[in-house]
Amino acid sequence: MKFGPHYLPILMYHQILPKSNPHFSKHIAVSPENFREQVQYLIDHGFTIKTVKEYFSHPDPFSQGKCALLTFDDVSSSFVEYGKPVLDSLKVKGSVFPIKNMSFDQKYYNLSADGISPLNEKDLRALHDEGFELGSHGLSHRNLHKISFEEVKLELSESKTWLDGITGLPTQTVCYPIGGIDKDIMEFSQGLGYTNGLSTLKGSLQFKQDRMSLRRVDIKNNVVGKKLDSHISHFYGFRRFITRPFRAKYRVDFRHPDMAS
Ligand SMILES: [Zn+2]
Repeated sequence: MKFGPHYLPILMYHQILPKSNPHFSKHIAVSPENFREQVQYLIDHGFTIKTVKEYFSHPDPFSQGKCALLTFDDVSSSFVEYGKPVLDSLKVKGSVFPIKNMSFDQKYYNLSADGISPLNEKDLRALHDEGFELGSHGLSHRNLHKISFEEVKLELSESKTWLDGITGLPTQTVCYPIGGIDKDIMEFSQGLGYTNGLSTLKGSLQFKQDRMSLRRVDIKNNVVGKKLDSHISHFYGFRRFITRPFRAKYRVDFRHPDMAS
């Protein structure tokens, strides 16, 4: 049994879009060219690229050597159009997180719909059939820590049932929308059968006990070359790592407001 932190960069992407696209935002979009450079960099530096599910399905995940995981939040048609061709040509897969309501043209929050076209169930099944992992990103993309716990239950369970139906397999990974997380949300997710949880806490070091609040590396368009090297380093997010016990916004051991009393 190994103790202590394990080095595992989990790269967090949102949109892959050409810079010429009017909806390109440097905060959430990466151009296909830079995306290729980033993934190629990982390959050239000896990382084995896996999906979250693939990595954690191993009986002793952290014994697998140098791996990196690719994750795509709010996945939309731009991923299929611009991101997947890059991954196909480099022969790697990733984990994608669709918002259920987006796929059904229903209300979702905290995201501009400009430039985002949903993937329908057929698109998502095709991704699954090709080896991409589908994980939950909720129904409506709201911060789960800030809505009622009854709504949290619906967000986590209905999105799981939906994806289970598409893949015919139990969905294992949940990516908490906009990073809204607390102890009760993690425990409820585990009770539903999720085995991996992705947070927006920064870092490339993971602790075994944090399997439901895994840290990620925020990859923006300008994170290439030396900058990418420093982002995927052991120390990326170190400041947040040490301040987490003290600063409220980095804590995951809070109770949900509805459950605290
Ligand atoms: Zn999101």
